[in-house]
Amino acid sequence: MRNHKYYDTPIEYLKGVGPQRAEILRSELNIFSFGDLLVHYPFRYLDRSQFFTINELSEELPYIQIRGKIIRITPHGGKRTTRLSAILSDNTGTLELVWFQGVKWMKDSLRLGGEYIVFGKPTSFNGKYNIVHPEIEEIGNAETQKEGSLVGVYASTEKCRARSLDSKGILKLQRTLLAGLPSQIPETLPPYLLSKHNLMPLREALLSIHLPANEKQLAAAQYRLKFEELFYVQLKLLRSKTLRLEQYRGKMIDKVGTTFHEFYNNHLPFELTNAQKRVLKEIRQDMGTGKQMNRLLQGDVGSGKTMVALLSMLMVLDAGYQACLMAPTEILANQHFVSIGEQLQKMNIKVGILTGSSKSAARRTLLEELQSGEMKILIGTHALIEDRVQFQNRGLVVIDEQHRFGVQQRAKLWMKDEEVPHVLVMTATPIPRTLAMTLYGDLDTSVIDELPPGRKQIITTHRHESARLAVYGFMKSEIAKGRQIYVVYPLIEESEKLDYNNLMQGYEAICNDFPLPEYKVSVVHGKLKPAAKEFEMQRFIKGETQIMVATTVIEVGVNVPNASIMIIESAERFGLSQLHQLRGRVGRGADQSYCILMSGDKLGYDARLRMKTMCDTNNGFEIAEIDLKLRGPGDLAGTQQSGIMNLHIADLTKDVAILEITRQEATMILLEDPHLQKAENTFLIDQLDVFEKQHQNFARVS
Ligand code: ADP
Ligand code: MG
Repeated sequence: MRNHKYYDTPIEYLKGVGPQRAEILRSELNIFSFGDLLVHYPFRYLDRSQFFTINELSEELPYIQIRGKIIRITPHGGKRTTRLSAILSDNTGTLELVWFQGVKWMKDSLRLGGEYIVFGKPTSFNGKYNIVHPEIEEIGNAETQKEGSLVGVYASTEKCRARSLDSKGILKLQRTLLAGLPSQIPETLPPYLLSKHNLMPLREALLSIHLPANEKQLAAAQYRLKFEELFYVQLKLLRSKTLRLEQYRGKMIDKVGTTFHEFYNNHLPFELTNAQKRVLKEIRQDMGTGKQMNRLLQGDVGSGKTMVALLSMLMVLDAGYQACLMAPTEILANQHFVSIGEQLQKMNIKVGILTGSSKSAARRTLLEELQSGEMKILIGTHALIEDRVQFQNRGLVVIDEQHRFGVQQRAKLWMKDEEVPHVLVMTATPIPRTLAMTLYGDLDTSVIDELPPGRKQIITTHRHESARLAVYGFMKSEIAKGRQIYVVYPLIEESEKLDYNNLMQGYEAICNDFPLPEYKVSVVHGKLKPAAKEFEMQRFIKGETQIMVATTVIEVGVNVPNASIMIIESAERFGLSQLHQLRGRVGRGADQSYCILMSGDKLGYDARLRMKTMCDTNNGFEIAEIDLKLRGPGDLAGTQQSGIMNLHIADLTKDVAILEITRQEATMILLEDPHLQKAENTFLIDQLDVFEKQHQNFARVS
């Protein structure tokens, strides 16, 4: 957000950089200009005053700092050293340091007998502690000593280090850069925000974030920079919402008509929950205002989002419009098509389906019926986005999504209509509030926070491989009661082949242990043709098979109420939200349901916490929060592509409070001055432009 020619200066003009290092900085760290280097903030700070001694080490320790003398250096692997180890000794013991990379450089620079400060995470091996690839720095290096006690640690890469652009090298560049920082750099936040929230001025914040004098100053600098970042994220999202509402008139759906009433009174298979009713009211209100609805519907797995979607579509039909529903997979689109078709059977409403495997003749007819307006509801996959899919008059788009689309991709689905339809986005699982406020910050939100009545809590247990026979025994007794069972294997792209082998081995083992004719087993995986997949699914849905062995293709949305047991193999390899999604496949009927997480015997800390969380709670909102904390926002499915996580300093797992405050401020500013025309606000528009340049991926199509 920084608008000053100093920031735009190409990085090679910085003293100490030059063409070669500039090239490395550009290609490795995306640093093209002074401004880019300035926002290459430390990701951690070392407290130079805090040291551990070797006899205090334990595996539980995070990254720590130790002072000692190198008493031995041993190259391994013959002439071409492939591994280097060194022994560090302090008064209390010895510690091994190990390098597998950059070995030659390390060998040349390490000095036997030298005193060093070592930083890294200790692990123990055969009762001895070691640190692999420690950060290491010789004591007596004059530069170290004049530093404050907090020293920034910068992200770097192997290639950077080869040009001495390790963390220390980058810090040196930052120093040069900051020394030349103009004394008058334009402030990027309006003065009223600075004083209201007691924020550190920009110049001081930039200096302090790189070269903090103490904890307090660092905290103030971080707060200010995070505030700035999140404020502009929110201002941008909310402003685009304001502009959208002005730019597009929504279709007026102002009264509930006969189709809706007939369905509601005569064909609704159950009483709606209060939450479903409330959400429908919100949707109806939105669509009846003349504004374009853009609403996010959040609800836990099984909370009944589909019925809300269907009823909303009927409202739109009553006003003379068409509607469409987009699902993330073909299986799910089919399932929606079948179940919605069944529900509407007695009502004369034409429902169609369009997926990648629709035959071309059928497709042609369908597209014609769509244009003539005969086809009222179209269900499908991504195929719906294609240009040739043209509606006569579409009133509502429902996106039942698993992948989180970027702002622009969502727009692509509805922008093609001359007159824009209303949009309802349904998340497959709850997402944490901070993510909802950023990923979907331009949308209004509805929440279904209640499950349909009579659902029994799913009982979740965690079992190790050694308990497999007992698990099989349990499966048999449930099958004897007439239940059906899913057995799910992970599918991770990098090891697709391995996963496939695991799945097929598991399938064979189950076929051996559950022999015909008593037991019948379906198998579904990514290598099957869609028709074969569908055939296997149908056998299971119809109850012709009792066990469904599958990869995560069944993850999203399939509905088989009689299936009451979910066995997740290698559960430690799944993320929390995925586990929760999978578990949501059961517990849909009246029977007590179970979820069994199978895992290897030895699990790391995070994996144990995931298993425990699953056993402890069935609440998707709680699980989403824990997931975000465990994985960080960058790893959550789909968020990376959405580009929104391109934040330089704010951390969506921790900065909830700042996010709330900045959203509030942005809301208030736009409320009073929607076009940012007031004198004190015009500069916000310039800031937003710069912000967009600096966060180019912000709303990139994923
Ligand atoms: P999700 O929100 O995960 O998409 P679904 O819409 O698939 O959930 O609903 C899950 C199951 O609950 C379906 O079988 C659906 O028919 C049923 N259901 C939805 N709403 C109700 C309700 N109000 N009462 C009883 N069952 C309901
Ligand atoms: Mg669903």
